[in-house]
Amino acid sequence: MSTSRHQHGPVEGFRSGRYPIGVSTHAYCYHVGRTLVDTGPPNQWRRVRAFVREMADERGIDRVVVTHHHEDHAGNAGRIAEMLDVPVFAPSASLDRLRDGFAMEMYRRVVWGGPVRVDAQPVPDHLSIGNGLTLRTIAAPGHADDMVCYLIEETGGLFSADLYIVKRPEYFRYDEHVGALLRSLHRVLEHGVSTVYCAHRGIVEDGAHALREKARYLEALCGVARRRYRQDRRSVKDIREEMLGGEGMLYWISGGDFSKDNLISSCIRDQDRIDAEHSLHAVKSPS
Ligand SMILES: [Zn+2]
Repeated sequence: MSTSRHQHGPVEGFRSGRYPIGVSTHAYCYHVGRTLVDTGPPNQWRRVRAFVREMADERGIDRVVVTHHHEDHAGNAGRIAEMLDVPVFAPSASLDRLRDGFAMEMYRRVVWGGPVRVDAQPVPDHLSIGNGLTLRTIAAPGHADDMVCYLIEETGGLFSADLYIVKRPEYFRYDEHVGALLRSLHRVLEHGVSTVYCAHRGIVEDGAHALREKARYLEALCGVARRRYRQDRRSVKDIREEMLGGEGMLYWISGGDFSKDNLISSCIRDQDRIDAEHSLHAVKSPS
């Protein structure tokens, strides 16, 4: 069994997932004001639908907003829009993928199910969500290029999508970027965050502290990884063994899509990019 409900101030969270093995196989959707934030995994639709029905009847749902195109966040948006006849708002960069679909690895279909396509509209910078509450949209790429977080302006609560999840990540997807992720962490921290409503961890009290800790951990990891690679001439595999140990279950479940090597590589690559930009500025090409 793997569903549960969590109430926090004006926010009600609902967790569901097919496999009860950990934080990364559960996903939350949240109700706040008269709005649903993210929509749960497609293969959990029966459970999600019961939650959505209850929230719609008792508190009202006038709109759905999603944080990014991934199926565990946006996969039921089309079903909910049809069931309640409400609009779906999404980041501009997500719209094509939500409408036309996108390539997905097999393990994602097994863990989350396939998403239902949906015609969403671009989410504005500020969105009234009912009961006197407003969401501010904050760009937060790194985990996914189209991801945003939503700040409840009146409370400082942050729907953080996949920005947080764990304080000390050891695994990265091949398409995640640690440099962009760090900039996103610092960007949301400029906004006076109180509680974090994480799409996988759930409610995180003192969210600003948690986000700051994650940024510190990643900065330290990047610093050491880059030094080992550039100065000590160690391989990615050696550095990963030393700093994070061997690959674990997530690596095998995802067919290598999630790996510790990806995280170490991203640390090194982002530093290489910064160095390359610096040397372009420093060395003017002869005419
Ligand atoms: Zn995601």
